[in-house]
Order: sequence, then structure tokens, then C-alpha cells
Amino acid sequence: MSTVTATPPETRPVKSTAPLDANSTVKESKQKDVGPTAEERRRWGNVSMWAVGWLALAHIVVLAAPFTFTWTGLIVMLGLHWFTGSLGICLGYHRLLTHTGMKTYGWVRYLFATIGTLAGEGSPLDWVADHRKHHACSDQEGDPHSPNEGGIWSHMFWLAFHTHNGERKEYLQRWVPDLYKDRGMRVLDVLFLPIHIAFGAALFAVGYLASGVELGTSLLVWGMFVRLVTVLHATWLVNSASHMWGYRNYETTDDSRNNWLVAIVAYGEGWHNNHHAYPRMAKHGHKWWEFDITWQAIRLLRATGLVWDVVDYRNAAEKQENFAKRAA
Ligand SMILES: [Zn+2]
Ligand SMILES: [Zn+2]
Repeated sequence: MSTVTATPPETRPVKSTAPLDANSTVKESKQKDVGPTAEERRRWGNVSMWAVGWLALAHIVVLAAPFTFTWTGLIVMLGLHWFTGSLGICLGYHRLLTHTGMKTYGWVRYLFATIGTLAGEGSPLDWVADHRKHHACSDQEGDPHSPNEGGIWSHMFWLAFHTHNGERKEYLQRWVPDLYKDRGMRVLDVLFLPIHIAFGAALFAVGYLASGVELGTSLLVWGMFVRLVTVLHATWLVNSASHMWGYRNYETTDDSRNNWLVAIVAYGEGWHNNHHAYPRMAKHGHKWWEFDITWQAIRLLRATGLVWDVVDYRNAAEKQENFAKRAA
């Protein structure tokens, strides 16, 4: 596979004005201060009991899945999997909030941030901060989840420890100053747990009212917990598998790979080498066969006028070409 050289990914949140180039014009030199390294984080005093408790609970409840199976539960699970995984995490948290790959109305931004919150991967503040730091230090010291520290570490164990090393406010102000200033995002941060309790209760209530306790329990276990755990592992595969296995279209400074299996289960995010080469580009599939279902949702939103200035190009020439194609 031939590779082309791409300049290193952006390292900081971008300004609201869309740059000409999907590599972003905001390229800050690598910070000496990379924050806590994996080694500094791995200590008992830094264990995040909330994260460990939350993730353990979700995995334990999934053990009840075989006993609470219904076809309705499975369909609701799959629908919510796409809704929270693709629209919430891939589109909302990742391409919109982290990388500002498009512009939109304030209410649309909050809507997608809320859907992302329902995926149970942490509040927008924590998720976006960790992911921006991942891009700034990919597979180097300071990367929150590099497979260089072990495959299982990059997949899930990194979540057992705070990424901020105790100074959360400082960490957020350093990595997500734009979101931290936003009262709506701070509200979502506080509402993380209540929103899940309300959503779980609503799922149970709908099933119970429709058909009784059996369906209520099925919707709760499948629609909430089976869905949470499978979306979590799909996202985690991007951090682990897509930094270990697959092919590369671009010679980036990290170990990112394009992995088709991860692209399927994680709604297009498995084209991760493409993404590391052009982080702001909202279109993650760069070759014709690299199907990206989240990109299809973005195209639909653009067609309806709900998002605009979508970064679907690598450079100014490609920007013009894409614009002409759409206008034709
Ligand atoms: Zn990565
Ligand atoms: Zn990213």
C-alpha cells in the first residue's frame, strides 16, 4: 500500500473559523507539558472509583442478558446502539465537539452532546479532553491510551485511572477551554448519572406499560446495559485495535491504522489512520471502499441545512472540487 506523507495532526481545539485545510491551520508545537503520563497515572490514589464502579455495573448487568432476551429488546438495543454510538459519540462528541469538523446551531450542538452523554462514555468535557490529548501525544508520552502501554491498557484499563491526575479543573481548562466555558456542557457534566438513571427508568416504564414486567426488564437490560457495553467496546477498539492492526494510507507520526472490522462496529471510526492524518476532516473514509456510515448521517444533516461548513476535504483544491460536485 503506497503511503503519502501527511503533516502531524492538530494538537489543540480549533477556532470557530473554518481553516482552508483539513489539517487545521492551528498547529501548536508539541507542548512540553504533556500532563500525567501512563506511569504517573497508574497508582492506587489515582483510581477513579466512579469509572470503575460504572463500568463494572454495566458489565455485570449484561450477565442477565440471556435470561431477559426478547426480540423487541434486541431491536431497541440495535436502534439505540446506532443512535448513541454513531450519532452521539462519532458525530457529536468526536467529529463535532472534539474536532469542530462542521458548524451548526447551538441547539443542535447540545442535542448531539446529550445523545453522546447517553452512550455512557463520560461527559462531553472528559471525553473531548482525553481525546484531544490523545491526538496531541498519540503513541507518545502523555497519550491517555496508547497500546505501547499494553493492548488491554489501551482498550479499557486506562479508564480505571483519572487522566487528570487529581487536578480535573486545570486539566479541562487546558484541553477543552471552549467547552469548559460553555454552561450547557458543564450542566451535562453534572447530569451524567441522573440522565442515565432517567433513561433506564424510561426504558423500563415503556416496556412495562406496553406488556408488563418481562418486557420492561428486557428493555432495561438490552436497551440500556447490553447497548452500553457493546458501544463501549466498539469505541475502545478504536483506541486499541486501530492503533495496532490494519493498513495505513498516510505516514503519520503515530501507529494509527485503518481497520475495516473496527470501521463496521464503530460506525466509520475504524478508518483511524485517515483520521489521524486529517483530524478535522469529518469524512473518515478516504478511499471509495472505506465506507463510513457516520459520514452518511453528516451528509444528510448538511442536506437539511442543520450543519454547514463541513470539513470534507484535505486541502484547498479538494475543497473547491467537493464544493463544485455538490453544486452540480
Ligand atoms: Zn488514535
Ligand atoms: Zn479524533
